[in-house]
Amino acid sequence: MSPQQMFGAVYKTYFAEKLGLDPKNIVFVSAIPCTAKKFEVTRPGQDVDGMPGVDIAVTTRELGRMIQQAGIDYKGLADEKFDQPIDIGSGAGAIFGATGGVMEAALRTAAEVIEGKPLEKLEFDDVRGTEGIKFAAYKLGDINLKVAVASGTANANKLLKGVQDGTYDVQFIEIMACPGGCVNGGGQPTQPALVRNTVDLKKLRASVLYKADSDKLAYRKSHENPLIKKIYDEFLGEPNSHKAHELLHTYYIKRGK
Ligand code: SF4
Repeated sequence: MSPQQMFGAVYKTYFAEKLGLDPKNIVFVSAIPCTAKKFEVTRPGQDVDGMPGVDIAVTTRELGRMIQQAGIDYKGLADEKFDQPIDIGSGAGAIFGATGGVMEAALRTAAEVIEGKPLEKLEFDDVRGTEGIKFAAYKLGDINLKVAVASGTANANKLLKGVQDGTYDVQFIEIMACPGGCVNGGGQPTQPALVRNTVDLKKLRASVLYKADSDKLAYRKSHENPLIKKIYDEFLGEPNSHKAHELLHTYYIKRGK
């Protein structure tokens, strides 16, 4: 499942129970850069005990317009902490929105789990950047891992065809449908041509996410986030447990030709 659906599923089960709420009385709204996620809310295989995990998906473009229409001085708002009880995020989560970010977050965890010791350097620079297809190779313990990252459907097609016909030898692939990743998602705020033609928005927006994943953060790896650990300890059991599969996984069917 995508992060929004996982969040909705965990909120309407584990957190509803912890907060003493009836999940039927929860309206879960997600703010996302992605028009496809509006469709995803309605897909089969996304429900939680017969309820939708996410009730309403609002794109960042729509949210921006609502903020403008309400006359809110967004830039003047003071920073606030996340609401309890989901109040801890990690740097690995922040970089998910840039092409290569999901790969880097996964590599941080995989490297530490395989090598059994903390990583000296958390940045996997070779999978960063806005190129349409990126390749990199890493040695994790005894494993020689070759990875590929593609963004944009034309690049995804090229990469997958290359894997199928043996041109590319890779074991781990990240694909994002939008060129540059979610930072350039179909639901992001639009910009006038003057900005689009003079500013590399994909690069600029990605740089903001990499800045958010800074040394000042308490947690930069997903597996170190104490909230995630708690959810597994108290509720899901372990990764790939029956409950985790039931709540966090979905299925896909072939549509069209
Ligand atoms: S890459 Fe595009 S389609 Fe995929 S989740 Fe991000 S915004 Fe949505």
